[in-house]
Amino acid sequence: MLSASNNALLLNNGLPQFQFFEIAHIQSSISQLIQQSHQQFLSLEEKLIQPLDNYSISELYQLTIEETEKIDYPLNYAWSMVSHLKSVSNSPELRKAYEESLPKIIEENTYTSQSQPFFHAIKRLKESNELSPLQQRIIDSSYQGMFLSGIGLTGSEKDRFNQITLSLGELSTSFSNNVLDSIKNYELYISEEKYKSSMKEMPKFALELFSQAAKEKYPDSSPENGPWKISLDGPSIMPFLSHCPSEELRKQVYLAFISKASNGKENNIPIIKQILNLKEERAHLLGYKNHVEVSLSEKMASSQDEIVKILNDLHDKAKPYAQNDMNELIDFMKNIHPTKEILELWDVSYYSEKLKESKYELKDEELKPYFPIDSVLKGLFQLAQELFNVQIEEVNWKEENIHVWHPDVKFFRIYDYFEENSSKTHIASFYLDPYSRPGEKNGGAWMDVCIQKSKVMNKLPLAYLICNGSPPIQASENTCMKPSLMNFNEVVTLFHEFGHGLQHMLTIIEDSLASGIQNVEWDAVELPSQFMENWCYHEETLKSFAKHYETGETIPSDLFQKIINLKNYHAGMSTLRQVYFGMMDLYLHSNSIQNEEEFISIQRKFAEKYLVKNIASEDRFLCAFSHIFAGGYSAGYYSYKWAEIMSCDAFGAFEEIGLENKEEIRLLGRKFRNTILSLGGSKHPSEVYEMFRGRRPNVDALLRQNGLL
Ligand code: ZN
Repeated sequence: MLSASNNALLLNNGLPQFQFFEIAHIQSSISQLIQQSHQQFLSLEEKLIQPLDNYSISELYQLTIEETEKIDYPLNYAWSMVSHLKSVSNSPELRKAYEESLPKIIEENTYTSQSQPFFHAIKRLKESNELSPLQQRIIDSSYQGMFLSGIGLTGSEKDRFNQITLSLGELSTSFSNNVLDSIKNYELYISEEKYKSSMKEMPKFALELFSQAAKEKYPDSSPENGPWKISLDGPSIMPFLSHCPSEELRKQVYLAFISKASNGKENNIPIIKQILNLKEERAHLLGYKNHVEVSLSEKMASSQDEIVKILNDLHDKAKPYAQNDMNELIDFMKNIHPTKEILELWDVSYYSEKLKESKYELKDEELKPYFPIDSVLKGLFQLAQELFNVQIEEVNWKEENIHVWHPDVKFFRIYDYFEENSSKTHIASFYLDPYSRPGEKNGGAWMDVCIQKSKVMNKLPLAYLICNGSPPIQASENTCMKPSLMNFNEVVTLFHEFGHGLQHMLTIIEDSLASGIQNVEWDAVELPSQFMENWCYHEETLKSFAKHYETGETIPSDLFQKIINLKNYHAGMSTLRQVYFGMMDLYLHSNSIQNEEEFISIQRKFAEKYLVKNIASEDRFLCAFSHIFAGGYSAGYYSYKWAEIMSCDAFGAFEEIGLENKEEIRLLGRKFRNTILSLGGSKHPSEVYEMFRGRRPNVDALLRQNGLL
């Protein structure tokens, strides 16, 4: 038995004790916690093997749900700390310790999720008709999760199910490996004289990137003179297609890009066929018609028809705008090149970028001085206070003996504020890790749960908010610190992650399996986060905090207008693209596909129907559609648009009453808090949404906010 003192993984009362975290503790602590929780789970199973009728329904609920929460807590706590630190303070040693413990964690999770006694108890509860609505919902989702993992099957069906699960895991790995390999195996070095003048017209950042990539083979490469290496991964190909003036080069790279993983050793077509067939067979074993039904059994969307209707509606309304975008682009091209007749597919990104630059030139550098991080945070917290009646206060963690994983991390408490007697109650806390630390911290931004609100464990919510802004800089010893200036995307991202955080922290549900973001259907999870993003495009809100860090000047209106125009630039075309992907995904997962050639014709058919420009005959986009064949989005790609529709529609409620009507906005903000932010996964998201909006979401607000109405 390890001693809990001086071991952050075992000290799980109160706030995390990061000062006692040591990599050397990981393996032994995790092993010990697994052993402990496994023993406790075995004795729980013992109790559940007794005839279930020996227990009253409330005793049984207490055993299966509350008892498991207590059993799981120490291990979950420790493992979430390890995972968190792996993403913000990574090192080879930490990664090694993590990887060594991971299989044991998976093994333990598999054991509990496949426990027959446990499943029977859940089933008994599900069918009892004696649970409260909240308990019923918790039990229903636990049941569904276990059911979809095949636990209810027996004999040869069970064997086949397990075989399919195994094969699908291998196939999705092969799928992504093929995509990765086909990217890796393509390289274009540009060094010929005839291309040099053309290459030199490209932006400096792109040339630096291409030259850096070429250095392995040509150590003398320079951004100015090449050679430059172009590859098919996003960070390389996007700037290339958007900026390379040579049509010949663009065509060559574009054609390679759209036929990724579709031939030779890396051909994904046979794999797609196997994946789709196996998912269909698995759906049948579980008693569903197809994989779409399986996917939707755990989503907010009620049926394929509902999604198809909404996506088609979006398509119909966005198409004229997309057509206009396209015509404008063609005219623009002809203006530059009067002899060029056709806007080819490899021309689209290039002229689109040029047109955008000519219409709304707006550089990150122009905006950044208006977004010093402290001012942005102040504005964000002010907004939260006005809308949701919470007070957010930064805590001086050094003074309060609170520990963090890096000196830059900030710590905040959220209070409920009572106007009647100006009193406040502490309801949640969060860490904010604002700056990038290349080499030890993952890129991007995210909100992660540190501690879940829980009655059983007597816990208030605690969250991690992680961003990757540029740290404050000191130019020289004698100058002042220049504060961290955020670019506009980082501001939007901060609002987004804070929205997730609000749902986690403002929950009033005390059953940890349904509190905060827990148990919220996957296609509804982005509602609060995207809702918060909308405020960045609201002039008054933005102007309340976008103040120049040196002069204090508020962001000028013309800059604000440029932000709006840029947001909506070619929104018609990008909407159609998302609809095209979403519809194709649903079709493929609800129809039996017999032969490999069919994929190509299906893709062409959907492109013809949903896009304004036909795809190239070489286009094999499906072969690299990793979201649905190697990620979690199969029969779920629609979620991107779905979440956007809902979040815009929710924001639309605020627009409808007029954003200048402060008092009514305040009341509506409270309503948003009391429904969407408070109820978490305790009710079906449609029900929660209707409590807030009084109706189902529709696409109008999304169209309006994207300039498509
Ligand atoms: Zn999100």
